[in-house]
Amino acid sequence: MKLLIANALIIPMTKEGLYLRGDIGIDGKHIVFVGTGDPSFRADRIIDGSSFLVMPSLVNAHTHLSMGLMRNYKDSLPTLQAWLAEIFPIEDKLTAEDVLLASRLGIIELIQGGCTLFTDMYFEPQATAQAVIEGGIRGNIGVTLFGALEENKARVEERETLLAPYLAEAEGRLTLNVAPHAIYTCTQETYQYAASWAREHGRVLHTHLSETKKEVDDCIKETGMTPPSYLAKTGVLQDVKSMLAHCVHLSEEDIKLLETFDTTIVHNPSSNLKLSSGIAPIASYLKAGIPVALGTDGASSNNNLNMFEEMHIASLLGRVVETDAEKLTPYQVLEMATKRGAEAMGVGDKVGTLEAGKEADLLLIDLKKSHLTPLNDPFSALVYAAQSSDIDTVFCQGKILMEQRKVRTLDENKVMDDVQKSWANILKR
Ligand SMILES: [Zn+2]
Repeated sequence: MKLLIANALIIPMTKEGLYLRGDIGIDGKHIVFVGTGDPSFRADRIIDGSSFLVMPSLVNAHTHLSMGLMRNYKDSLPTLQAWLAEIFPIEDKLTAEDVLLASRLGIIELIQGGCTLFTDMYFEPQATAQAVIEGGIRGNIGVTLFGALEENKARVEERETLLAPYLAEAEGRLTLNVAPHAIYTCTQETYQYAASWAREHGRVLHTHLSETKKEVDDCIKETGMTPPSYLAKTGVLQDVKSMLAHCVHLSEEDIKLLETFDTTIVHNPSSNLKLSSGIAPIASYLKAGIPVALGTDGASSNNNLNMFEEMHIASLLGRVVETDAEKLTPYQVLEMATKRGAEAMGVGDKVGTLEAGKEADLLLIDLKKSHLTPLNDPFSALVYAAQSSDIDTVFCQGKILMEQRKVRTLDENKVMDDVQKSWANILKR
């Protein structure tokens, strides 16, 4: 199938400030040209792009997809610790079927919000992998670890076996990460094992780090080190690609230290505000040369998976907490929500920008909206004014997953009914 998007406003995310009016050619899974059309290209279908802005699909670099089940549930508690004390007993009751249904729902929400790639950390990852295949999007699925070494060795072996058929079936849309949950839930040996497994298999290590002041204070009390120093000194960050979610509370020394490793910080501003964790000074991390990606965290601490909302909040927070020279720009926030996430997951050569040769993961955003008129600066428009409901069409790997806001790959009404029933059953267990 050859498809032409004609005469659109295109933001390729290849160069700061670059936008152009032109065409995009898609042949099968791949983009074949961006900008000037190829006269020899014979399209099977032409989409009139004159009222659309086309940009790369969004990348949600940290979530717990199935926590959508616990959305708006006991979520007005004062701290992360108090909230986790309510959530962990519910999670103990979840089955793989619950996770499958919730993952389908989460994937519908991601597609509707223009996201076609996410990094997940949760239980029963094979169920989430199945939902990724059904939904047609991309997943970087975590083998999640809690506790001591022996149980985690067994867990990794079991999960690898369970996930293997899904990896084979996903046509390159599935990757794995190893996800020790946090310093306060995993032993040092578990972290070291996770890091050696990630090195051996070329996977990313994904963890929560320095999310709250209490986590940092407890780590210093127990080890004499801050969380980044602890992971560095124990060899966990050495020679491994890592994604560190939150990093709200970093010292100057922590920032200098993290800059020396192949790590990406994942900013989750809504969750950090809602759980009273604080505001991560993102511009100072970028200034130090540490890449930053954007995530929603789970829908139970957000309470949605809306990357447009996340970009908006990140942009606004990035204006008030920094010095004048360090204010976040709209383009930086768009980079965080697209190519930085893809690069962090090791798939930046495939997706994250619109370029010939890359796979066609892109969004058509309807510009015929009162709140986008006049458009003026399109980067400002995307982070400050646009709504996820402005997304008309979503492509992943050249396939249309949503058009005119109708998700094609999953049955939204059935999935919502299934999740309602599943949640009612969980509460009775
Ligand atoms: Zn999280």
